[in-house]
Amino acid sequence: MKQDQNDLRQSMPEYTEQLTDPTAAAFEQGEPITAAEQINPANPANRTASSKRPVQTQQTTQTQQSRQAPKAEDEKRRSIVVRIAAHYKQALTVDFDKPLSFRDQMVIMAVVLFFTTALFSLIYIVSLGLRPATTEQPTAAEVSEVSEGAVRSGEASRTDDSRSEEKDGKPEQTESTDQTEQQRESEQRERAELSDRKTAEPYFSSVTTITAGEEQLHRGYLILINKDCDCRYDGENLATLLDSPTRSYAVTDARVSLQEDIVPAFDSMMQDFYDMYGSTDIMAACGYRSLSTQAQLYQKEIEEQGEEEAEKWVAPPGFSEHQSGLAVDLNLAVTGSGQIQYESVEPYSWINENCHHYGFIVRYPKGRESVTGYSYESWHFRYVGYPAAQYIAGNDMTLEEYLDIVHTKTIDNPLLTETPHGMYAVYYIPAEEDGETELTVPSDRAYTVSGDNYSGYIITVSEQPPQEGNEAEE
Ligand SMILES: [Zn+2]
Repeated sequence: MKQDQNDLRQSMPEYTEQLTDPTAAAFEQGEPITAAEQINPANPANRTASSKRPVQTQQTTQTQQSRQAPKAEDEKRRSIVVRIAAHYKQALTVDFDKPLSFRDQMVIMAVVLFFTTALFSLIYIVSLGLRPATTEQPTAAEVSEVSEGAVRSGEASRTDDSRSEEKDGKPEQTESTDQTEQQRESEQRERAELSDRKTAEPYFSSVTTITAGEEQLHRGYLILINKDCDCRYDGENLATLLDSPTRSYAVTDARVSLQEDIVPAFDSMMQDFYDMYGSTDIMAACGYRSLSTQAQLYQKEIEEQGEEEAEKWVAPPGFSEHQSGLAVDLNLAVTGSGQIQYESVEPYSWINENCHHYGFIVRYPKGRESVTGYSYESWHFRYVGYPAAQYIAGNDMTLEEYLDIVHTKTIDNPLLTETPHGMYAVYYIPAEEDGETELTVPSDRAYTVSGDNYSGYIITVSEQPPQEGNEAEE
């Protein structure tokens, strides 16, 4: 214990001079040791001091005889305690005039370094949490879609860039546009996948199979006849319009005829027009034409107009819709003026605007020459059936375009056509190379079958239950 005291005294020689410190002085007068004493209770000097506390009490209980020796001892102890107290006091006091020791500098640097590192780590972690998680490897299709999107958004943002260029010249807008574009496309993909999954289930709950013969490919209301696709119909089941019960329209002569099945639709349309306007000006000028009639007509047109002009208006033999018995040309038989060309003007334009409610379409519409191959013919009406006419007119398209859409539709993913008379589902089955084709059709719904005249069969299904004669149309 003596040794400890000597060590302390040697290592802290300056403390002896600090005995005049107010704290030390107070302690000498017998104040109890508080914080300084308790800092290191393991210190034997400390322990001694604390075990003798309160010092004042101890002093008063000591006898006069034994006072001299213990007093010297006390003095010693007290001076050690005072030095310790002073040491800790100094340790807690910063002297700003003294330059920092190397060790202190290192400690400060270490502390600053630690807190800087901690701060940056925190910022990094927070930014990681905010970033959208898109770490999946994109497929080739996705990459091409994304690059398409980038091109498109690049175009879209070009105007934005030029607008913001004066301000900062940074294409920040492009980045955000890219992100939203990519996000939008990924959402679209998800939706498409979802709908694919939906339509992968059978659309019709109950189906059966029928057989279509090769000749049926060229029969039906949806056969395509144009300059690339010739007509194979040979005039069976025709009815002359002169025998029609309605007197709401006139006919050029007794030869004007249409397929028997569609005459009621034509009569109904003419009757409604007559009921509305009281006009009997409409004349059915031309319906079915035989191959030989078409050949004569074409030859006559070439002789009169020249080959180039004839091709614009008259189909070469074999390629006229009139050979199908599904097309009719209207003329006007205005009293006192004889027979004149039909124009889609009031009140006749009502027919052009409403024919799709009767299953007819304006087959060669204005501005669609590149699709149909013919100039606009306001007078030429073609029967395609009610559901197809509704879809074609409702979407402002041609028969060619309608068939292109239907060719992409299957029995499980049909083309749905909403009409005032209910919903229709339309789908396509390609024809076998040779011979007969098996057609899957719903067994609990009414349907019609039509060839497209070149590649396969179109099945049009109504919501109604099957009726008598629910079979392939001729
Ligand atoms: Zn015509």
